[in-house]
Amino acid sequence: MYQQLATSFAAMSNLPATLRARLEEETELQVLSVGQREHSAATGTVKLLFSLQDGQAVEGVLMRYRKWYSACISSQAGCRMGCRFCASTLTGLARNLTQAEMVDQVLALEREAREAGGRVRSIVLMGTGEPLDNYGAVLGFLRLVTSPESLDLSYRHISLSTCGLVPGIRRLAREGLPLTLSVSLHAPTDELRSQLMPVNKLYPIRELLLAWREYTERTGRRVTFEYALIAGINDSLREAHALAALLKGQLAHVNLIPLNEVAEREFKRPRPQQVTAFALVLRKQGIPTTVRRELGADISAACGQLRHRVFTRVSRRRGEL
Ligand code: SF4
Repeated sequence: MYQQLATSFAAMSNLPATLRARLEEETELQVLSVGQREHSAATGTVKLLFSLQDGQAVEGVLMRYRKWYSACISSQAGCRMGCRFCASTLTGLARNLTQAEMVDQVLALEREAREAGGRVRSIVLMGTGEPLDNYGAVLGFLRLVTSPESLDLSYRHISLSTCGLVPGIRRLAREGLPLTLSVSLHAPTDELRSQLMPVNKLYPIRELLLAWREYTERTGRRVTFEYALIAGINDSLREAHALAALLKGQLAHVNLIPLNEVAEREFKRPRPQQVTAFALVLRKQGIPTTVRRELGADISAACGQLRHRVFTRVSRRRGEL
C-alpha cells in the first residue's frame, strides 16, 4: 500500500493468494476516489478534489519543485476559523478528517507524482481546515507518514500551517517534533488581524508570539510567518514597517503570499510592485523574506476554491441556493 501504492488486496501479488483472500474477507482497504482533477500546464501543479464516503469533499494539491514534489493536503472538511479572505470557511466546518483520509490524500498525490516520473518528498498541511483543530488525527497522521514501515518521510520535510491556535501550538511544542511550523499572521496589529481573522480575538498577537517563542525554544526550529498580501488592506509600507518591528531579531522567516482572489470575497491581490516594496522593507530590517511563487493561477489555486465551487454547483442543482 505505501511502497507499491496498491489500491486493492488483489493487486498485492507478493502476498500468498490465501492471505489476500483472508484480507479481503476480514478487512477493508478504502481508497479515496478522485471526483475532479485540475492540472496547470504552466507549473505542473495538480489539484485533486477527493470525494469522501459520506458525500463530503476535500482538496489536495501536488506541487512540483525542480526534481521533487510536495503534497499539500487538507485536515478538515471545511473550517470553522472564519478567516475573511478564505474560501474554505464559507460554509463552516462539516467534520474533521480521519488519520486515514489524510494519509490517503498523500498516497493519491504520490500516484500522480510517480506517473510524472517523480516522488513526493515533502508534505504541507495547508489545505482546507485548521490542523490544530483536529489535533489527535493530525498527530497520528504525522507519526504514520514518518514511520519507516510506511512513507518514511522526514519531519524536516513536513510543514504544518496554523491560523494561531495558541494551546495547540504549545501542545505541539511539547511533542518535540522537528517539523516546520507556519503561523498565518496576515496583519501586524491586533486591530487589523481581528478584522481579518476572528481567531485573533481569542488569541491576540502577544499570546501568539509567546507560543511561537516556546515552540522555537523547544524544537530549535525556525517558524515561518505567512502573510497574505491584500490590496489596500494590509499591504502598505506602514504595515511592512510594523511587521518588521514585531519580528526583528527573532528566529523567524516571512513568506509573503499575494492573495489568491476568491469570487465570494471582496479582497483583491496587490500589484507586483507593491509586493516587491513590502518585501524590501522587511529584508532591509534583516528579516528573511520570500514571496511565494505561484503554482497554478490557471486552476482554482486558492485553498478551498475548487471544493466550494463544486459544492455550490451541486447545491444549485438541488435548488438549495
Ligand atoms: S485560512 Fe486556514 S484557518 Fe483560516 S478559514 Fe481558511 S482554512 Fe481555516
